[in-house]
Amino acid sequence: MLDKVVIANRGEIALRILRACKELGIKTVAVHSKADADLMHLHLADESVCIGPNSPTESYLNIPAIISAAEVTHATGIHPGYGFLSENADFAEQVEKSGFTFIGPSADVIRLMGDKVSAIAAMQKAGVPTVPGSDGSLTNDNQKTLSIARKIGYPVIIKAAGGGGGRGMRVVHEEAELISSVALTKSEAGAAFNNDTVYLEKFLQNPRHVEFQVLADGQGNAIHLGDRDCSLQRRHQKVIEEAPAPYIPEDKRQEVASACTRACIELGYRGAGTFEFLYEDGEFYFIEMNTRVQVEHPVTEMISGIDIVKEQLRIASGMPLSVKQEDIELKGHAFECRINAEDPKTFMPSPGNVKQFHAPGGNGIRVDSHIYNGYSVPPYYDSLIAKIISYGPDRETALLRMKNALDETVIEGIKTNIPLHQELVTDPYFKEGGVSIHYLEKKLAD
Ligand code: ADP
Repeated sequence: MLDKVVIANRGEIALRILRACKELGIKTVAVHSKADADLMHLHLADESVCIGPNSPTESYLNIPAIISAAEVTHATGIHPGYGFLSENADFAEQVEKSGFTFIGPSADVIRLMGDKVSAIAAMQKAGVPTVPGSDGSLTNDNQKTLSIARKIGYPVIIKAAGGGGGRGMRVVHEEAELISSVALTKSEAGAAFNNDTVYLEKFLQNPRHVEFQVLADGQGNAIHLGDRDCSLQRRHQKVIEEAPAPYIPEDKRQEVASACTRACIELGYRGAGTFEFLYEDGEFYFIEMNTRVQVEHPVTEMISGIDIVKEQLRIASGMPLSVKQEDIELKGHAFECRINAEDPKTFMPSPGNVKQFHAPGGNGIRVDSHIYNGYSVPPYYDSLIAKIISYGPDRETALLRMKNALDETVIEGIKTNIPLHQELVTDPYFKEGGVSIHYLEKKLAD
């Protein structure tokens, strides 16, 4: 087992990783920016190191500072969490070159999945269903681009191979706009991602976002922990997630899940990962793979009983998976509400001092949060301050428990999006389940 791990992240996920390390007897090093000297996990870690000023580029994205922190504390591994450097192949490579274990897949696999064109090609090879599209990058041959789009049918979406975070995409509704839109997306992608490669896909009009959680040990074993529905999104940011995804025919779920585990073995994948799909009219379409632990991993932990972060640490230590596919029993239903420090109507960030924090509790409630009475939410980072997770034997019970939990939660001193969540968990369409990725935006517009 790894001896000592640097937690190269902040907030709730840093605390989540720390807890998993403690359960496994791994010593911990918390690294933090100047603004984050009051983070809860710093008090619980064996050691802590300030790695730079408030700006993320000078701290949590500062590769030399993080590697130096591992060196001075004689750590053996580095866990990147999510966001920040978690999907940065250069970081993974430098961590390994410096003699530390990167808790995640190899740099090569991160790089392959980080380029959407190569990721799609790898998926097609492994038999994972993808969106009908250009099967490769678009060239300067406009006639060819026009004929690809004509064959697929409008609307189409032009996407940057290096895009991420919902950026670098453009929907095209008619042929007259196609060539100029390709040129525009290309130049924007070049500026934003230093890579002007673009490709084209059929634009699905009313899909759901359904994703599969996988674990692979890089020793020939890969399993899946079922699916999650993360369709409730605003500006491509997930707001509520649930597991399992409702109304997916069991044979279809099994078919796609098996394709995902097969792909892991073909890729020599190591660690936790997520295959993201759009789901429309009974069909799955791969959009991307996330090569890290995700914000919404707890809903899967609730229905599977598997501790995903502990599995990551075991795999990185060179151990095989602790369970086989046939040992996995997915039971009940779970929801996660992402609680952000923001105005529930305008969505403006609301950093500041938490004067009162009372966490909810009761049967089936889990709260992953780093905030406490008197904690100040800094303005420099993501506004996620807590994740409330509810579990129940069935979807309806889990949702009722979530409603109670939201009603019980007290956060004073800053604004949060709890009022929005309270409205969403009683929304008749959401209660029924299976809303599309456009549902929340449409509801907000109304
Ligand atoms: P990113 O890496 O920026 O998150 P994704 O490829 O995961 O990019 O796409 C982000 C979101 O964009 C999806 O969740 C979906 O809402 C929308 N999207 C992407 N591709 C398509 C498509 N072919 N049809 C419809 N919507 C799409």
